Amino acid sequence: MNIVLILQMAAEAGADRVGLVCDGRRWTYGQLLEAAKGAAEIFINSGCEQVALLDESSEAAPIALFGAAMAGIPYVPLNYRLADEALGALLDRIKPAYVIGDVERSNRLSQGHTCATREAFVQAAEEAAAGASGEEREGEGIAAQIFTSGTTAAPKAALLRHTNLLGYILGAYEFMTAEETDAQLVCVPPYHIAGISALLSSFYSMRRIVMLPAFDPDTWLKLAGDEQVTNAFLVPTMLARVIARMEETGNATLPSVQSIAYGGGRMPPELIAQALDLFPNCNFTNAYGLTETSSTIALLTPEDHRTAHQSDDPAVRARLGSVGKPLPTIELEIRDDEGQVLAAGERGEIYVRGEQVSGEYREKSVLDAEGWFPTRDAGYLDDEGYLFLAGRADDVIVRGGENISPGEIEDVLATHPAIADSVAVGAPSVEWGEAVAVAVVIKPGAETPSNNELSQLIKDHLRSSRVPEKIAVVEELPYNEMGKLLRREVKKLFLD
Ligand code: ATP
Repeated sequence: MNIVLILQMAAEAGADRVGLVCDGRRWTYGQLLEAAKGAAEIFINSGCEQVALLDESSEAAPIALFGAAMAGIPYVPLNYRLADEALGALLDRIKPAYVIGDVERSNRLSQGHTCATREAFVQAAEEAAAGASGEEREGEGIAAQIFTSGTTAAPKAALLRHTNLLGYILGAYEFMTAEETDAQLVCVPPYHIAGISALLSSFYSMRRIVMLPAFDPDTWLKLAGDEQVTNAFLVPTMLARVIARMEETGNATLPSVQSIAYGGGRMPPELIAQALDLFPNCNFTNAYGLTETSSTIALLTPEDHRTAHQSDDPAVRARLGSVGKPLPTIELEIRDDEGQVLAAGERGEIYVRGEQVSGEYREKSVLDAEGWFPTRDAGYLDDEGYLFLAGRADDVIVRGGENISPGEIEDVLATHPAIADSVAVGAPSVEWGEAVAVAVVIKPGAETPSNNELSQLIKDHLRSSRVPEKIAVVEELPYNEMGKLLRREVKKLFLD
């Protein structure tokens, strides 16, 4: 099994159909398949063991992904936003690679690679296509190696096998049907699993990909209109910026957009409620997943969104803050520290199992004997099996031996009308080891609540151990480009 099958099937069904629009150029499935064959030839002749992309999204991404798959070597998209030291360390870990993109940086930071700019690579791949055999090599069976974002620790080299990625595509296929006129706007970076799964799922459903290499709300809105985009994936911070921009400009419609999926980080329930009010005809899907699980493992469907949004029952309405139910091909359990499976309503660590779940790193596999993967995400299921995330297991605040989930405190703070965003972290404390500290962002024009008022709000809803000992009011919270809150940056506010 090889992911190349996905591109071959698309090219067979519609060789002349446009599969990708990038920077004004339109690529048919037939052209993309030919270029991938040429790329495979180049990779094999270069003797490289991995193919690295050190660049923004472009046609080079699918050509390199499928070309590497044909050549039987892993595709390794790298985060070009990393600082020199961190990037150099990653380049050293993947020697010898064929590096596409920033040749100057690659040569400066690490030796022993074959490098080509995006333009030179794409041109060479198209030229090499003529004599290429298109034969597939098996290799180690690894389609992609993705360095995790490093939100909680140093980046890990997650390995995704062809079987994992195809397992995801087949497991999620019922959510992927598309019309011939459908177009998917892809604005997530190529080095994130969402960038790869967007390519694979769009090629699989033959939904035309419209690539936006660098997200900004104005270009997103313009491209959505110009290309008659029907589907999009956004991280929550991007959706917030699109909505804010539409409000600023008085443009309140997204005429062609029928579906928006979001994920990668926590979606504030108030933001999705606002989006549902603004775009009542748009289908919203919350997609929860990890690099190690080849992307989405649970979905809150458009139907779930509508039901929750319209319900007067608080338990049903709360589901706007849920990540939905596992895909049919995913088994999911909540376990306590001893590994015991917990009942509905009880918080623990989320474990998953399924074909798409890799759990394998260059260094080791973390799957247990029965194939279960510990996500390091804390969460719980409600009575009907909807999954709620409750922060990362590593984010738990340990105050005097008591485990406190930051999510409990953040959820209560979110109910305050003046608070736009908030985060709870552990701050060093001589008395408790860790004390609860919160940083809050105030809504524009709202009056800043006093510390006493915020403490009282927490006290009204939670145990006294959750009342913050430190409160900081900040302009904004630090999110990375995938919408992940960088808690370690917030912790620095409370170091003295
Ligand atoms: P590292 O493992 O290096 O710390 P990371 O976990 O941030 O990096 P990713 O695999 O990119 O790397 O992110 C997966 C995490 O993103 C999940 O474990 C979860 O915490 C968060 N996440 C993903 N989707 C959602 C979602 N829909 N809602 C809330 N959080 C999400």
